[in-house]
Amino acid sequence: MQHFDLVIIGSGSGNSIPDERFADLDIALVDKGVFGGTCLNVGCIPTKMFVHPADLAASPGHAARVGVDLELRQVRFAEIRDRIFGRIDPISEGGLTWRASNENVTVFQQTAHFLDPHTLQVGEETITADRFVLAAGSRPVIPDLPGMDTVRYHTSDTVMRLPELPRSMVVIGGGYIAAELGHVFASYGTRVTVVARGDRMLRGEDAEVSARFTELLGRRLDVRTGTAVEGVRPGPDGEGVTVSLSGPDGAVDLDADVLLVATGRVPNGDTLALDAAGVELDEDGYVVVDAHQRTTAAHIWALGDVSSPAQLKHVANHEARVVQHNLLHPDALVESDHRFVPHAVFSDPQVASVGLTEEQARDRGLDYVAVTQQYGDVAFGWAMEDTDHFVKLVADRSTGLLVGAHLIGPEASSLVQTLIQAMSFGQHPHAVARGQYWIHPAMAEVVENALLKLPA
Ligand SMILES: Cc1cc2nc3c(=O)[nH]c(=O)nc-3n(C[C@H](O)[C@H](O)[C@H](O)COP(=O)(O)OP(=O)(O)OC[C@H]3O[C@@H](n4cnc5c(N)ncnc54)[C@H](O)[C@@H]3O)c2cc1C
Repeated sequence: MQHFDLVIIGSGSGNSIPDERFADLDIALVDKGVFGGTCLNVGCIPTKMFVHPADLAASPGHAARVGVDLELRQVRFAEIRDRIFGRIDPISEGGLTWRASNENVTVFQQTAHFLDPHTLQVGEETITADRFVLAAGSRPVIPDLPGMDTVRYHTSDTVMRLPELPRSMVVIGGGYIAAELGHVFASYGTRVTVVARGDRMLRGEDAEVSARFTELLGRRLDVRTGTAVEGVRPGPDGEGVTVSLSGPDGAVDLDADVLLVATGRVPNGDTLALDAAGVELDEDGYVVVDAHQRTTAAHIWALGDVSSPAQLKHVANHEARVVQHNLLHPDALVESDHRFVPHAVFSDPQVASVGLTEEQARDRGLDYVAVTQQYGDVAFGWAMEDTDHFVKLVADRSTGLLVGAHLIGPEASSLVQTLIQAMSFGQHPHAVARGQYWIHPAMAEVVENALLKLPA
């Protein structure tokens, strides 16, 4: 039986741990899937590479309002897909080859589960180790709908590799994956229907943002909120799928070429037989960790989606750095910083957010002040003839400090960074607004003006 100093399960963020400082350790890296994990292969990176051409394809709609008539002639879907995966697949393959060539690292391309606190079943082999890192990620939830076993459906794992652009698509789900991939396929020319059970899309966002987002996406896609999927079945002539809905329009059957299931993701801890290792899961299935990313078993650490409900790559990366440090310096442990975790939705419009929504501030009984600044009221917004987008800030009235920032509109994912910085470093909104130059007339003035609306 092979023994290792360290076993890492998961080649996504887990793969970033072994560097030259680990050269003295005998390490096993185990992954049952495509090397490199979700972000690289089926997550952040390919989706955003699909979003950029989608933004370009959607631009005639935006250009018309400033007097430029553009016409979308064609989207070469197969070319876009092949360019994206022609770039990503070699990175995954090259990463595997390089990692497997490390003298002190053995790569197992197998499924792993624990047999006891120090023993792992890896495919047909049994290995032992002194220490473990769980970086096993998450997987799409497949809802238990009548007929799901009778149809071919896609998730974000498969839909980006479709052989051709579908004429029509039903997306089940109202979260960020539905928002991003709905935008992608609709912009490319697919007739997209998004079916969301709740009354708004992106329900985790500030209510004003999610309401505006639902309204704006609904101008381009068929967005059906307050609607339940009652069942699915093969479409007419056995082609595609028929989705039975019930909602404000009553009972409706929709036929589509492709069904995309985007109803959230669950952590993979349940696949690892963690009971045998003394590692606890919480009620939602996340591995329980302390502030140092240590699980309930002292020699086992966890990071990323398997233990972090944020389910974000920048969080997984941060936690991987914390685990890396703590493995190297067991006598000087550091903690993860989860104070201000931002996220963005790369749809059209973009959404970005950090900290508390107004509803959360209210529910916590915080004495807060909320202000809104329209893009359309700053010079760059005039240039774009913008009427739809805004920045909303929430601040603690007693300290004056920001507790939340919510943006919907062009470049939101970049504009939010100043606000993340202000919150992370405890900078007062007026110090941020007046303590530096803001390039005139850049789009960032929408953030400057929002900051100045807060009490001095
Ligand atoms: C469509 C989509 C878009 C996204 N966009 C963004 C974005 O724009 N920004 C952002 O921050 N985040 C985004 N995310 C989320 C982001 O991809 C994840 O938060 C991140 O990749 C998680 O990294 P991880 O290291 O925890 O897990 P992963 O990268 O998923 O790695 C886990 C690995 O563990 C392996 N594994 C699991 N179980 C076992 C087992 N039992 N045995 C052996 N191996 C196992 C898996 O094969 C996998 O390779 C997106 C996700 C999706 C699905």
